Parts: sequence; structure tokens; C-alpha cells
Amino acid sequence: MNLVENKARVYEEVEQASLQAGRSKQSVHIIAVTKYVDSSITNELIETGVKAIGENRVDRFLEKYQELNHHSLEWHFIGTLQRRKVKDVINYVDYFHALDSVKLAQEIQKRAEHPIRCFLEVNISGEASKHGFSPDEIDSILEQLAPLDKVELVGIMTMAPFEADDEELARIFSEAKRLQLDLASRQLPHMPFTELSMGMSRDFPIAIANGATYVRIGTAFFK
Ligand SMILES: *Cc1c(COP(=O)(O)O)cnc(C)c1O
Repeated sequence: MNLVENKARVYEEVEQASLQAGRSKQSVHIIAVTKYVDSSITNELIETGVKAIGENRVDRFLEKYQELNHHSLEWHFIGTLQRRKVKDVINYVDYFHALDSVKLAQEIQKRAEHPIRCFLEVNISGEASKHGFSPDEIDSILEQLAPLDKVELVGIMTMAPFEADDEELARIFSEAKRLQLDLASRQLPHMPFTELSMGMSRDFPIAIANGATYVRIGTAFFK
């Protein structure tokens, strides 16, 4: 595993995909998902120039936050968050990518010491095993989230089914983009919806082609 080479390759591929889509490379933010490695390897990756770290478990997130936060990094919590753990972690999170229930949003409202940037997780594919709201229920969900002013909805997050082919991926990601633009156009208070979190190691070029602004990449850094 050569972290310097892997980092250079991932950043190069993201830049290529952005340029091919007629977008600037600054329009796509790379989150390095470090859930596969310990703090010491995470630190080595940070030394290659990575600026944003993604973790999906509260214990691992807090451990790395405590050990590595001196780097002035951006911290992304990308996994399912249990309500009872919100208080432990939410005030250290710069972006929370998996807001998947109204009850969870209410708990964030209660525990947050400042507005928390959240992505509404949307299940575009309709796959039963996936978390997230279905596109049809979003209007009613937004009404319920309207009073929760510490839940800042910066965008939506989606994940494609593992077995999806390129055509299916493009369909899911373009549908997510359409939904994000629709929500942004409504200009609701504390719900800017300007961002779109989608794309992982195996599908980020297609996600970028379809308008992703945050890609969450793990495996490609650590192979
Ligand atoms: C692990 C994970 C990723 C990164 O996936 P890779 O395939 O390793 O790039 C992205 N998003 C979420 C929510 C994850 O749990």
C-alpha cells in the first residue's frame, strides 16, 4: 500500500472526472473514508495532503478526532447514527451525511450547540436494505424538519446498490441531482440544499459526471 501514490491517483481521477463533466476541480470535495485503518495510517494519509476525513462509527470517529484534530481537518460522519449516541459526537462533526429519520433530527436539535450541517439521506433506488427517505415522502419530512433550526440541510446523500451497472448508476445519480436542484430552488430557511454527497471508490466518476459535490472514497486510498 503506497499512500502517496494512491492519494495522487485518486485526486487525479477526481480532477479528470470533473473536467470531463465541464466542472472545476474545486466543485468536487474529496472525503477520505478512513474506517478501514487506524489513527496512525490515517495520520500518514493526512500527511499526503488529504483535508477531509470520513468515519462511520462513533467510537472510531471520536478516537481519531481526539488524536488527529490538530491538523485543522474537516470531519465528516458518514454512517448511521443511533439517537442515543448523538450527544457524544454531534458537536464535533462538521458534516453529518446520514440523516435518515425525523426523530434523529429532533435529537440533533436538542443536543447541538450550533447549527449542524446535515445531508438528508435519500434512497433513490428503492432498495429495501438501504437507509434513507424515499423521494415521495420528502415534502412531508421537510415540513416536520422546518422547526428544527439547528439542523442545517446542506444537501442530500445517496448510495447506489452494490450490483448496479453503469447505466443504473447514472440513472440513480441523475435522479438524485434533479431532486437536489428541486430542493435548492425552494430556498427554505436553514435548508440550502446546495450539495450532493454521492460516489464511492467504485462509482465516483459516474457520480461526478452527474453532479456530485462531495465524494466519499475509502478503498481506493488503501489498496
Ligand atoms: C465505507 C463507506 C464509503 C467508502 O466506500 P469505498 O467503497 O471504500 O470507497 C462511502 N460512504 C459510506 C457511507 C461508507 O460507509
